[in-house]
Parts: sequence; structure tokens; C-alpha cells
Amino acid sequence: MFIDKARIDVIAGRGGDGIMSFRREKYVPYGGPCGGNGGDGGNVYLVASSHIKTLLDFKYKPHFRATDGTKGQSSNRYGKTGEDLTIKIPVGTVVYKNSEFFYDFDKPFKIKKVAEGGRGGRGNQAFKTQKNIAPHLYEKGQPGEKATLDFELKLIADVGIVGFPNAGKSTFLSRISSAHPKIAPYPFTTLFPNLGVVKIWEKTLVFADIPGLIEGSHEGKGLGHEFLRHIERTRILVHIVDGSVGGAEPLKNYRALLNELKLYSKSIAQKPMLVAFNKMDLPIAAKNLRTFEKKLKKCKIFPISAVTGEGINSILEYTAKIYEKLPESKIEYETRKFIYEPTYRIIKEGNVFTIKGKKIEDLAAMTDFENEESLKRFQSIIKKMGIEGDLIKSGIKEGALVRIWKREFEFFK
Ligand code: GDP
Ligand code: MG
Repeated sequence: MFIDKARIDVIAGRGGDGIMSFRREKYVPYGGPCGGNGGDGGNVYLVASSHIKTLLDFKYKPHFRATDGTKGQSSNRYGKTGEDLTIKIPVGTVVYKNSEFFYDFDKPFKIKKVAEGGRGGRGNQAFKTQKNIAPHLYEKGQPGEKATLDFELKLIADVGIVGFPNAGKSTFLSRISSAHPKIAPYPFTTLFPNLGVVKIWEKTLVFADIPGLIEGSHEGKGLGHEFLRHIERTRILVHIVDGSVGGAEPLKNYRALLNELKLYSKSIAQKPMLVAFNKMDLPIAAKNLRTFEKKLKKCKIFPISAVTGEGINSILEYTAKIYEKLPESKIEYETRKFIYEPTYRIIKEGNVFTIKGKKIEDLAAMTDFENEESLKRFQSIIKKMGIEGDLIKSGIKEGALVRIWKREFEFFK
């Protein structure tokens, strides 16, 4: 099955906890703090691989996580760093992270970190100062970054083959390459895009045959517009017209298809296009060609027969000749406006005040509330960040509930 869209979620590894420990050696009079830091959590990477052709696997396995870091140890020993996780995706995958455009993996081996592992918590040795030589303070590990990723595969091809169903697109592709698309005397045989590698002189071009567009595709009729994204990267289109249908039909179809392309995407409609007037082995096509040519004087028309091979060389040679001179395709990524996120926000619901924000949520996750010194540090950071002041401004009363991350506190001044 060919799957070209998927949504997965990834979680980077959590940092290991720092620990509290003091040296207790027989002949050393003052045992200093020696609790080591936790190891950092593993990162999650994405890499473009030519060995993967579809996003199918992600339908069955949509959750990924990297390994957590381990706890620090006594004698200032650090915890182990979590292992990174590298996820292979097909070349041509466009990735959105939390609904924002993230990266276009349009070449093999392109690699990007997509979720950052949590930092290892500091052990009590790290909190030693001149004032506090025996800190009973340490951090837990930072949670790993979480993200929802949307994958959209846009195949890598140089030339797009377009045309209505039954025009002969698949026959054309099988004629010019070793691809074996399904060919049948009725519409809608091709249910997924087919790629064919074509060698023309010294040049190698990849042609993409996408399933039939029909009138109304842009409104979601048929499957056609679902597949148009697979010709977004091409520089040029070959439009196959069935020349064997009655009288004015070829011209009507030709125009209807152009219209569909325009309605779907301006950038696709603006790509240079060659017209292949197909099925010239049938006498009716030869007759239709004259009318067609008269109406489309400015267009480059190649009469061909995908079945006998007539005219195929000349359209291929022409394509190869002009290909290099054509501008590279520009992909339109969905872009959303950058939304300014304050470091935290307070959500008030009756007597409950929820504080949201990465920094504050991480701090809550990294604090051991059972430990008095850690708790004090938490409270002093909250004050410094201005959260306490903001809570008072938003009308909090003593005894109200404050929620941060998974923790709940009662508010006292
Ligand atoms: P697609 O839907 O555009 O992919 O069209 P296909 O390649 O599946 O072809 C549809 C039908 O048209 C099949 O029965 C083909 O054999 C036939 N066909 C394609 N090209 C030619 C041609 O050049 N001459 C003739 N006579 N029939 C053709
Ligand atoms: Mg087909």
C-alpha cells in the first residue's frame, strides 16, 4: 500500500535524576557533597532514507521515544546518557512539527534533530557554594521534548505526467521506463503514483504518473487532487490527451484539466507543459489532431501513440533538451503565523489557578517536593519569575489551588 500522509508523536528521553550523597570515608573528617548529575535523555532525529518508499509503517507504529538518561551516582559519578533515536523517513517527506513547517527532507541523508532530550538533573555536588558547603539540594531530570509530527510525502520526480483517466498515462510510462503501472481500458486503474526512471542520452529523468484527475477533483471528487502533491517538485509537465474521443472532446478535456490544475495550485498550473496527443495509431485521432492544433496554435503539441511508440522519442528528446534550462520547482509549504508565547500564562477557573509554560513545568517536574531545600529553591524561582506577583494580581486568595504540571499546591503568602 502506498501511504503518503502520517501523523506520529515523538518523545525524547527524560534526563536522569541528580542525587544527593555525601562522602563518608573512614579517615576523611568532613564528608563533602558528592551526588552526581543524571545523564541527559536521548534525542530524536529524522533522516531521509532512499530505502523507504512510503509512510505505511507509521500507520501501524505512530509512537516513538528515545531512551531516558540514568540517575547520577555517588562519588560525583554522572548517570549514563540516553540513547538517541533516529527515525528513517522517505526522501521527499515534508515534516510539520506541532503544526508548523519544520523541514523538507528532499535529499537522501538529510538529518535533523526533532526533539531534544531532557537535561540530566544536577546532583547535590553541583549546588555546593561557599555559603552552602553541604547542600541537601538536587534536581530531578528534565522531561524530554514531546512533539506531534505530520509527515507529507511529496515524491521526488522531474517530470509530471498529467491527463484525465484513460488518456494513456500509464501506457506512456511503461513504454518509456521499466515501471509497470496497471493499464486497463477503463478509468481509475492507477491508485497510487508510479515513478519511472527514463534515460535520455546521458540524462536520467524521473517521470511520475499520478492517478487520474477528473473534472471537480479540486473539490475532492475522485482521488486526483490527493495525488497532485506528487508532481509539485517536478519542473515540467507532460499532458497526455486522449485523441481518440469524439470530435471536440480532446480540446474540451485539455481545457478542463488545465482548469483543475489552476484550481488546485497556481504553482503547478504555471509549470511549463508539453502536450502529447495520444492514440495516433487510431484513424480518428489523426482527424481530431487537425482541429486540436488549429485551436491551440501557441502550444507545443507532440502527436504520439503510447502503444506503437510513434512520436515518443521526439517528446522525450525535447523534454531532456529543455529540462536543464527550466527553473527548479518551488514548493509551497503551509506556513502559519508565528504566535508569541509568553514564558508562562495563568489560567483561572474559579478558585483554581493553572500555570502553563515549558520553563515552569520543567521546574516542577525536576523538583523533589519531599525535599525541603529543593522545595525552597522552587519557591524562590517562582518568586523571581514573577509568578507569585501575577497570581496576586489575578486575584488569588489564600487557600486557593495552584496547578503546575502534575502538581497541586495550596496558595499561602
Ligand atoms: P491512464 O488511465 O491515463 O493511465 O490510461 P492507460 O494507460 O491505463 O490506458 C487506458 C486505455 O487506453 C488502455 O486500454 C490502453 O491500452 C489504451 N491506450 C493507451 N495508449 C494508447 C494508444 O496509444 N493507442 C491505443 N489504441 N490505445 C491506447
Ligand atoms: Mg493510469
